[in-house]
Amino acid sequence: MPTPARNTLAIVGAGPIGLEAALAALDRGLDAHVFERGEVGAHPRAWGHVRMFTPWRMNVGPTSRAHLEKAGWKSPDPEVCPTGEELADGYLEPLARLSELEGRIHAHAQVVHLARRGLLKGDSIGRRDHPFRLLVRDAGGRESYLHAFSAIDASGVYGQPNWAGDGGIPARQELYLAPQMSYHVDDVVGLRRSRHAGKRTLVVGGGASSATSVASLAKLAAEVSGTQVIWVTRGGREALLPENAGDPLSERRALYARARALASGADPAVEHIGEVRIEGFDFNSATHRYRVTLMRDEETRVVEVDQVLVNTGFGPDNSLYRELQVHECYASRGPMKLAAALLGASAGDCLTTPAFGADVLTNPEPDFFILGHKSYGRNPNFLLETGYKQVAEVVARLTGELATL
Ligand SMILES: Cc1cc2nc3c(=O)[nH]c(=O)nc-3n(C[C@H](O)[C@H](O)[C@H](O)COP(=O)(O)OP(=O)(O)OC[C@H]3O[C@@H](n4cnc5c(N)ncnc54)[C@H](O)[C@@H]3O)c2cc1C
Repeated sequence: MPTPARNTLAIVGAGPIGLEAALAALDRGLDAHVFERGEVGAHPRAWGHVRMFTPWRMNVGPTSRAHLEKAGWKSPDPEVCPTGEELADGYLEPLARLSELEGRIHAHAQVVHLARRGLLKGDSIGRRDHPFRLLVRDAGGRESYLHAFSAIDASGVYGQPNWAGDGGIPARQELYLAPQMSYHVDDVVGLRRSRHAGKRTLVVGGGASSATSVASLAKLAAEVSGTQVIWVTRGGREALLPENAGDPLSERRALYARARALASGADPAVEHIGEVRIEGFDFNSATHRYRVTLMRDEETRVVEVDQVLVNTGFGPDNSLYRELQVHECYASRGPMKLAAALLGASAGDCLTTPAFGADVLTNPEPDFFILGHKSYGRNPNFLLETGYKQVAEVVARLTGELATL
């Protein structure tokens, strides 16, 4: 089996960070290829109807911008916040069409595993001399191996939603019923309207995604009578999406204020139940309704609903690099050094969190980096702006090391 050139770089995921990394790496003489399990921008497309909190000026990577502008791309209004779909159509697609990336983005190519050729996880000596070995699966299920001397995992977290049940594990019957419930931010006023119009929906979760779902369902309730929402959260109402009067992100400020008002009874179509845990789900196949058991201390309450939206956040898929030496944070499941730095800097808000340098992004596994949304693990505070800074740091580190070989 031929050994790849030393400057080869494999990137997992063609999201905003994977594409920025590819262009930055090519600019510095690395031979980069991107492997994408779906299509370019698959995750922002999946939440395509959701308007971002950050405006265009914060969402475009500096290297991507330079390449796009050279190709005649006109930047959208920098102060406007795009939807996920607009980000994919107006930015990621044009990026993927750049001649520089021709033949370098491999769509419908899922990286199933990532290891070192000839080494197991426990082998400690000379890992850098063994290329990474990627098991890649195409859309037809055919698998092949590819090799590269450096690797970036920018595969995001949106494909790995958390469970609804208490303690983060599935509630009773949740595993069985999961395929018919939803674990994403559904387009309840558009594509998924008929599932919710005139129906009663349970929304689980206390973050931005659940706020988006509840606010959209309330909008639907104003249009279609009989539409109802039960919103359950682990914490109490007072702790829900606290007000930050100085928040410069007006989309976020408005959504959180609306969500707090809805939780406080501003709309009779929305009932908020705080400080509860989900104990179990039952589905009645005669009525097509769910009976959901909620627990507060030892008290039980059962609610009946037509649909369930679980918006309890996302986490990283670490099965990909199981055979690599990655030191994972026991709390966030992100890479340890970055998780510790984030904890240390825990001002709380994504806007004030620094990007940190390449040292913080390293793993015990040499030349392997987890970047972008996945680098934050379960911490929801990731911003694209931060990811673009990570890319610059890491590509400089990789090329610097290459120069010393
Ligand atoms: C609803 C929502 C709203 C958000 N709003 C904002 C915002 O306003 N501002 C902001 O800065 N950030 C926002 N974010 C956070 C973050 O910026 C986005 O999640 C962003 O898409 C992350 O980019 P990424 O490149 O790290 O990963 P992703 O965009 O998630 O891309 C990862 C890619 O990897 C692919 N992939 C996954 N597994 C594999 C595999 N095994 N093999 C090959 N390919 C794989 C996926 O198909 C996907 O295309 C938001 C996130 C969500 C969910």
